[in-house]
Amino acid sequence: MDAEIIAIGSELLLGATIDTNSAYLAGHLAAAGVNLFRTSVVGDNVGRIAATISESLGRADLVICTGGLGPTLDDVTREAVALAFDRDLEFRQELLDQVAARFAAMNRPMSESNRRQAYVPARARAIENLRGTAPAFIVEDVRGTVIVLPGVPYEMRFLFESVVLPYLRDERGVTDVILVKTLHAVGLGESVIGELIADLMVASNPTVGISAKHARYELRIGARASSPVEAHSLVAAAEATIRERLGDHLTGDETLAEAVSRLLTSSQQTLSLYEGTSVAPIYRALSATTVGLDYVRGVIIHPLDRPTDEYAAAALAHAGAISAADRWRSDLGLAVQSASTPDERGFTAVSVALCFPNGSRHATRHYDLRQPEGWDFVGTLALDLLRRYLMGETE
Ligand code: AMP
Ligand code: MG
Repeated sequence: MDAEIIAIGSELLLGATIDTNSAYLAGHLAAAGVNLFRTSVVGDNVGRIAATISESLGRADLVICTGGLGPTLDDVTREAVALAFDRDLEFRQELLDQVAARFAAMNRPMSESNRRQAYVPARARAIENLRGTAPAFIVEDVRGTVIVLPGVPYEMRFLFESVVLPYLRDERGVTDVILVKTLHAVGLGESVIGELIADLMVASNPTVGISAKHARYELRIGARASSPVEAHSLVAAAEATIRERLGDHLTGDETLAEAVSRLLTSSQQTLSLYEGTSVAPIYRALSATTVGLDYVRGVIIHPLDRPTDEYAAAALAHAGAISAADRWRSDLGLAVQSASTPDERGFTAVSVALCFPNGSRHATRHYDLRQPEGWDFVGTLALDLLRRYLMGETE
């Protein structure tokens, strides 16, 4: 079954509300084995909503809409769906009774405008909303099925899980499973990773996709099968290929910060940090894990040095790593120091250094630090230097 999602609400187009409903539905449709082709966002306008629904029905069998079911006149999804199906709206007494019962239970008077919520397109299947006042509904014709859910996220989720999923399973025979597994990689460019696994990325089952997050990469394997066992074996086969091709660039199920935390904890080594910038990129990168930072003994933040070039930056990083380890008597010291001025293209030299009981390592790269995100790359560089040392890799 192929599906599309339409998120309805002018506040979504104004950037005032983030469309979390689509993300929720996308994840749950995938898990249920429904192919999602497209998601759209449209404002509260009868003509545009109706046109979007008709377009979606031209491509997909199932369209799920959220939003625009409130009692006020700016919510026009009911009218728009009726228009898209060329039907009238019809009043359902039982829906008004449900809304009235809800107000009675809350001991509040029902407004006249709530009558609007008792209307659905002719021949629609109405669904009682046990979490709010706006009933949901399902409309079908030869083109396909439209399911309309309220916009309030927790009402939408409740109805999706209690009504839509059982409907898809029991009445539409949706029984496939889609299993998604995320692997983490670091230390290679996105394009290099893409080339190493190009064949997997154009395959259709399992599918493999990459998303980049500041020099850290998430590789998502998604497999569709008729049973969980079969889906697991498809994912496992793709994972084995990815592991073989990416080698130690893959941190696997763990993020970089999790891998470093585990390696430090299992080898019982302690760490101190020297951050030559108030951004403290290493500490920030390490704190991205929830496993705890018990092995961190201390952090020196010293943003005052202004090394003129990358050689001076490297020397200061080296000295910083040693002084942090010394200050807190930790096994390891990890440091970052940037040069003071960017080059003519706006790139700044940054050195990271790691000192350990019988030696040290360092790396220098050039980053665009005019955007705060640039420092995230520095954190990744430093943690990957540490990870490779902890895995016993030689330089
Ligand atoms: P509505 O049913 O369109 O009147 O929306 C009711 C509430 O749900 C409002 O606070 C909306 O901002 C919120 N809402 C509507 N659509 C979405 C969406 N796609 N994602 C997150 N919140 C939404
Ligand atoms: Mg609205």
